[in-house]
Amino acid sequence: MNHRSKLPNIETTIFTIMSNLANTHNAINLSQGFPNFKSDQKLIELVVDAMNSGYNQYAPMLGAMPLRAAIAEKYQQVYQANYNPEDEVVITCGATQAIYTIISAFIHAEDEVILFKPAYDCYEPAIAVNGGKSVAIQLNYPGYQIDWKLVESSITQKTKMIIINTPQNPCGTVFSKEDMLELQRITKDTNIIVLSDEVYEHMVFDGMEHQSACLFPDLKERTFITASFGKTFHNTGWKLGYCCGPSALMKEFIKVHQYNVYCVNHPTQIAIATYMNDASTYNSLPAFFQQKRDLFLNAIKGGRFKWIPTQATYFQVLDYSDITNENDIAYAKRLTIEHGLAAIPLSVFNENKRDQKVLRFCFAKTDETLLKAAKILKTI
Ligand code: PMP
Ligand code: GLN
Repeated sequence: MNHRSKLPNIETTIFTIMSNLANTHNAINLSQGFPNFKSDQKLIELVVDAMNSGYNQYAPMLGAMPLRAAIAEKYQQVYQANYNPEDEVVITCGATQAIYTIISAFIHAEDEVILFKPAYDCYEPAIAVNGGKSVAIQLNYPGYQIDWKLVESSITQKTKMIIINTPQNPCGTVFSKEDMLELQRITKDTNIIVLSDEVYEHMVFDGMEHQSACLFPDLKERTFITASFGKTFHNTGWKLGYCCGPSALMKEFIKVHQYNVYCVNHPTQIAIATYMNDASTYNSLPAFFQQKRDLFLNAIKGGRFKWIPTQATYFQVLDYSDITNENDIAYAKRLTIEHGLAAIPLSVFNENKRDQKVLRFCFAKTDETLLKAAKILKTI
């Protein structure tokens, strides 16, 4: 059969490649971002309760109302931001579906989308498959600071959207309040839509504060926020997330959502609605993950990797330039095969696959796993 690929340059995602390689070689897997510790038993019991109570058929199209209400309440409590659960919050199949839906609802052929690299890998294929064009702004190790003058000068008549990701995967940095004010300033009085991917909003360390787009009233009016319960509540396999945004924008989002999935997994929605009413379920996360970051970094002290402690997310970037000159993909594979430890090479997320000799390690793991991994890293 002959067909013209819509995505001729897209290869298998690095997360699949590295997790498969880790499994094949029985390596410790700090590559793909998922916890290896158990979900809270209380949350699992709430899902069982929901199933036993009959929540086994289609959920309402926009999501179970108790969950949409709990999300709206959280935005009120944490950010003093208003989202109407009736038409400004939609439950999705992970943040991935929310992101894809936003892009496909708004990007026409030839529209330009500005994004920052290293960028999480689901943005560009979604833009490309909808005929849009990515305009990448490369940020650089170690600081990954943004030159807002460059961002401003990258805006053209065709700029339809700007995608930000704070805290940013894979580099673990956060946008400052000044960054958000710059974003608000350069998009003010434009028709540019902002997609703010905030899946790591509850994993920010060292007393820093997450600068959600919803904290900036003018920006909020043109922004979609995406989030992931998989990341927040240690259940990446449940693929539950959400999108919130102003009703005029959500109207277009819903048109795509209703014929893409219509609705998503029902019992997990009911369970999370109850679970997240206790704010400590997410407020405890910075301390929980900061302890893991510090345990990991203390345990690799004295080795040859270099680092700046990650500000946020559950990823730590390590610089291996004192160890080898190898390209990061080759080194990540060798680390897995020869040393039994899998990580993610950052070049795959960079413009033109720029290699800055850094690998990403996921520390959402038991202390025991982190100490085992650190022992390997320290002796290399
Ligand atoms: N955005 C970023 C930055 C991510 O790291 C991930 C992976 N959790 C996603 C979106 C997708 O989230 P989900 O697994 O809920 O689809
Ligand atoms: N978000 C996860 C990460 O960054 C991976 C999700 C996936 O495998 N698609 O590791």
